[in-house]
Amino acid sequence: MHTDALSLPDGAQLDADLCIVGAGAAGIAVAMEFIGTPTRVLLLEGGGFDREEALQALYRGEVVGRPYYPLDATRLHYFGGTTGHWGGFCAPLDPIDFTTRAWVPHSGWPITRAQLDPFYARAHPVLDLGPFDYRRTYWEEQDPRCTPLPLDRTVLEEKVWQFSAPTRFGSKFRRALVDAPNVHVYTHANVVQVIANESVRAIDAVQVRHFDGRTMLVRATQFVLACSTMQNVRLLLASNERATAGLGNAHDQVGRYFAEHLEMPAGTAVLTRPQSMQLYAYDFGITKARAELRLTDAQQQSHGVLNATVALDPAPETGNALSTFEAESPEEVELYRRATKDSLTADMKGTAQRYDAAQVRARPFFTLTTRQEQAPNPDSRITLSSERDALGVPRVRFNWQLTPLDKHSMRTLYTRVGREFGRLGLGRVQLREWLLSDDLTWPPLVSGGWHDTGATRMHDDPKQGVVDADCRVHGLANLYLAGAGVFPTAGSANPTLTLVALALRLADRLKG
Ligand SMILES: Cc1cc2nc3c(=O)[nH]c(=O)nc-3n(C[C@H](O)[C@H](O)[C@H](O)COP(=O)(O)OP(=O)(O)OC[C@H]3O[C@@H](n4cnc5c(N)ncnc54)[C@H](O)[C@@H]3O)c2cc1C
Repeated sequence: MHTDALSLPDGAQLDADLCIVGAGAAGIAVAMEFIGTPTRVLLLEGGGFDREEALQALYRGEVVGRPYYPLDATRLHYFGGTTGHWGGFCAPLDPIDFTTRAWVPHSGWPITRAQLDPFYARAHPVLDLGPFDYRRTYWEEQDPRCTPLPLDRTVLEEKVWQFSAPTRFGSKFRRALVDAPNVHVYTHANVVQVIANESVRAIDAVQVRHFDGRTMLVRATQFVLACSTMQNVRLLLASNERATAGLGNAHDQVGRYFAEHLEMPAGTAVLTRPQSMQLYAYDFGITKARAELRLTDAQQQSHGVLNATVALDPAPETGNALSTFEAESPEEVELYRRATKDSLTADMKGTAQRYDAAQVRARPFFTLTTRQEQAPNPDSRITLSSERDALGVPRVRFNWQLTPLDKHSMRTLYTRVGREFGRLGLGRVQLREWLLSDDLTWPPLVSGGWHDTGATRMHDDPKQGVVDADCRVHGLANLYLAGAGVFPTAGSANPTLTLVALALRLADRLKG
């Protein structure tokens, strides 16, 4: 069923067994699992079925740390959430990402990759991906042109990615959810407050508010917040009537350890002889899988570096990659940020150039683009601004920060790639100036992948995290979080496959 919450009278009260707040990738993945069960589900979506500017403006926030994209441009505030313009790059996290690495402070998940594997497999059809097989050899067998570079695999190896259509959750799952007799979708239902019971040990209800001041109360047995990382943090911190520091924040953990993926061109490679590069090729909307390079786990450990991959993309004629990420002046940074907003507002279209063997032979230049996890940093943080949005909720104050380990890791990775290419006679690698400099400086605008992770991280110890291994908020019996905010570390892989796998796991726990 579907109801536009704007049609309900002031003071309306609803109740359910399970209330899911937010109909993006995570919220929809949880809701879909309950279709046909006896559980009465309410799915509250703050937006409508299409983009509306006044609602999108609720996402505006203050950026006080490193320059970042405009917050109201990256996440989308309507049914289907940010999958309305995501790119579809998918890969599971590596087993090493879940371990406690002595050289990465605050690393380690309370679950293992093996525990998540069955849920990754179930997440694949949700995202319209191929078989849950990320072995390079499997993909070589699918296409005889996919031959790997002759690397020393004790140093460098391939990480395989798969590509979603990209699946738009809003259009793919709307009909099934609206038709399900036990699921009730409410659009224009912006939750502004999560209301705890008197002892602050469980949640009684959530409050929805409209621009005209009307409110609605939703009671349920269990609640899942799936509003995306920043909005989940905002809701928890703003729900401070009974817990002055905000819900789940008894130990000042909510909002800390925000992490992006550092996605930026950092070098150029020139191959000395023609190679089949099909295994590494990518064509938007066409490629099903491709490989990027990574340092082996042993190399990461011996160099004390973070996990990352390097993509090889055909470079423009000059052999010199045109970087949008190395703006020199504050004016250029501002221009770039505005351009990003404009291009995100339009639907994402493929920008990658066609990648065929003939072109590669004629033009052996490749831009090396990195995807690197960020070291967990308690000072990289989301708090509340003194400014409020049109519904009266404090806006996000976003302070994104990097650490010396981030720069050290990227420089080490590229230096190793360069040495290996030289040692094996594969080619030459030129690094960007800022990467070579010994100091810890970055270009004025460090590009993230639009991936909001951390800030409500998973940890067994409530003093070191916000949710437990089941994604339940510490200290609150019936409040769960879904989304990449629960990642303690983000690996090199884009987050959506993992957050959908975690959402399916959460659905199983809730059913149990
Ligand atoms: C340009 C771009 C490209 C990307 N490309 C990739 C990629 O290639 N691969 C990848 O893995 N990831 C990618 N991502 C990230 C991906 O989009 C997110 O990981 C994913 O959408 C997050 O899912 P989510 O459900 O947590 O949040 P969202 O998808 O943002 O959904 C949150 C939902 O909650 C609703 N909501 C928010 N606040 C409230 C409230 N108070 N009350 C009620 N409802 C609320 C929102 O309207 C929205 O529907 C990309 C992101 C961007 C911006």
